[in-house]
Amino acid sequence: MAATSLDWAGGAACRGSEGSLFYSADSAERKEDRLEREQLAKRICAGCAVREECLHAALERHESYGIWGGLNEFERRALTRA
Ligand code: SF4
Repeated sequence: MAATSLDWAGGAACRGSEGSLFYSADSAERKEDRLEREQLAKRICAGCAVREECLHAALERHESYGIWGGLNEFERRALTRA
């Protein structure tokens, strides 16, 4: 059977984590709160066995928001411009 594009998701370290760590729950989130939230999410990503697959999928889908593969949307955009 052919692998599907989300086969990697079963190994995600963020399964069961608070989604609000990876996405802002508040459009008016303060910069300091955002940095703190993202650092917590990135710590989970750092130990994730499928980090590369996650990042690749987010880049392919042009994900506009959230932490994917350990990078936020600005970091992913910078990566594609490099
Ligand atoms: S890299 Fe981060 S966002 Fe992606 S699956 Fe792993 S823990 Fe979740």
